[in-house]
Amino acid sequence: MKIFCVGRNYAAHASELGNEIPDEPVIFMKPKSAMLQQHTPFYYPEFTNELHYEAELVLRISKNGKYIQEKFAGKYYDAITTGIDFTARDIQNELKAKGLPWEKAKSWDNSAVIGKWVPLPEIKNKKEINFGLYKNKEMVQKGNSSLMLHSFDSIVSYISNFFSVNIGDVIFTGTPAGVGEVVVGDELEGFMEEVSMFKLEIK
Ligand code: ZN
Repeated sequence: MKIFCVGRNYAAHASELGNEIPDEPVIFMKPKSAMLQQHTPFYYPEFTNELHYEAELVLRISKNGKYIQEKFAGKYYDAITTGIDFTARDIQNELKAKGLPWEKAKSWDNSAVIGKWVPLPEIKNKKEINFGLYKNKEMVQKGNSSLMLHSFDSIVSYISNFFSVNIGDVIFTGTPAGVGEVVVGDELEGFMEEVSMFKLEIK
């Protein structure tokens, strides 16, 4: 399976990090080993001093495809949840300054947290999904899929022009404003609408 991620898909988040708003989606990937397995503790990685959460809506690919037209893209995913694209922000900033690839900042073991899947038919309107992240019971991020620069369907279509999408692949669709740091002992809880999707303690 592959883990695709979209960067800078919410204008307010792009500007909080001082990035331009891109015309085309920014795509990067994490390997399968980046997925935090269920019931596995999350440990603060030793190579960073600035670990950031990025809460995102995540799609589950349910059909193999390539060169998918946007109007058919909705048939290629069947569930959505909230997840975290953990980022070593200090390392990302160093790499960005040098124009180097992001993997060391984004794609390390257990950097992808995925909540419980909600089947698409149970979602009222995928164009207006509220989601959010609480840190130590305080809301730190709040987003709505209507604020995405690129919709789910346009992301799936765009990605499929470069990479085949396969059953079981997942797509992190970008984080809204409010990213921030976590330290050992912090508790994170991700929501979609009013429902808890995952809970995590930084060990
Ligand atoms: Zn992200």
